[in-house]
Amino acid sequence: MEASQYLNPQEETASVDQLRAWQLERLQKIVRHVWRNAAFRKLFEEQGVGPDDVKTLEDITKLPMVSKDIFRQTYPLGLCCVDEREIAEMHMSSGSTGTPVVMPYTRNDLTQWGECMARCYRMAGAQPGDVTQITPTFGLFNGGFGFYHGARTAGLFIVPASSGHTQRQVTLAKDFGTKVFGAVVSYGIRFLEERNAMGIELPAMKIGIFGAETFSDELKKRLTAGLEIEAFDIYGMTETGGVGTLGQDCSAHNGIHVWEDHYLAEVLDPMTHKPVADGQVGELTITSLTREALPVIRFRTGDLTRILSRERCACGRTHLRIAPVTGRIDDMLIVKGVNFFPRQVEQALLEIPGVLPNYQIIIEERDGVKDVRIHVEAEAGVTGYMVEKHLKERLQFSPKGDVFAPGTLPRQEGKAQRVFYEKKD
Ligand SMILES: [Zn+2]
Repeated sequence: MEASQYLNPQEETASVDQLRAWQLERLQKIVRHVWRNAAFRKLFEEQGVGPDDVKTLEDITKLPMVSKDIFRQTYPLGLCCVDEREIAEMHMSSGSTGTPVVMPYTRNDLTQWGECMARCYRMAGAQPGDVTQITPTFGLFNGGFGFYHGARTAGLFIVPASSGHTQRQVTLAKDFGTKVFGAVVSYGIRFLEERNAMGIELPAMKIGIFGAETFSDELKKRLTAGLEIEAFDIYGMTETGGVGTLGQDCSAHNGIHVWEDHYLAEVLDPMTHKPVADGQVGELTITSLTREALPVIRFRTGDLTRILSRERCACGRTHLRIAPVTGRIDDMLIVKGVNFFPRQVEQALLEIPGVLPNYQIIIEERDGVKDVRIHVEAEAGVTGYMVEKHLKERLQFSPKGDVFAPGTLPRQEGKAQRVFYEKKD
């Protein structure tokens, strides 16, 4: 693969020994850095760990873990580890449970974000001067600005479309020859529907970078075929510094490379918090090694994944690869003793010819007993019975299926809500 596929060839293809050496040196430094913050210091002291107790990388298991709760308890800037005058920008995720999670950035943090994100752009095949259309919102949500900082670092021609106005998005893509399309997964589908309705060809579009929601293989196939693009799974979250900070898959599409010179990834058993063997599913836990304003230490992402490989990839990169996130611990649904994730429902639905990728999972509860009803859009000829029969075969239980005409289920901007609860008496 040619050198232009890399933004930072030395870092991206460094030997594993070199990566581990960087990680240890940076982990020791970051532990001393967060020690300046009272909330972090308290967590360390409760765990009986001092700022100089990291001697080897394995010592990370002695450090306290942080979860979303501490962000909420210290809102707005109680976790910040630098003087507030050094903050250059902030982003925030609303979350579903109330108090938002705030992420402040120093100028160096913005550079770090831009670099991680630009590596992703380059890994997807974007070259300087390529037109990139950014469709996540520019605002408190980190998506729009994350793509923006990365596209600046990667030297791209930026069309900062932001979210919504889908007809205009299609027109912009045509008029400016968008090659690289960045979006929240469900918005990719919305864009495809509108493009089809308008009957416009987009021959310049080659690359789609999708994030913020889990992505079933079937949905990816539809986006890839419908828009005639190569689709990439980008990864990152507010707490790690935003979209693209953690990494993305490469053109080998054999797992998501995690930028190990910037982040230390552990996959832990969600109950015991002990590391699971490579290949086993667990909760991804992330330590930021190079961030200043608010580096996380062993942050429990809530995302379930597994380590696929630590070997050098076909693309030449040495950074470990994880499986695309299969679900979130909080999203796991349990109905009549069967565990499942919304993503499995999506995968099963889209295997039925004529079914469209707009659906709702409704959990109906009556006298404490839960049932699942699926609302899904489909073309004429698909019946509720066909949906029920297929889901019964693929998921170990029998949801009810209701079929709706194309375009009749509600659409949302941004992340799509898929699961709804209804209590019946
Ligand atoms: Zn690779």
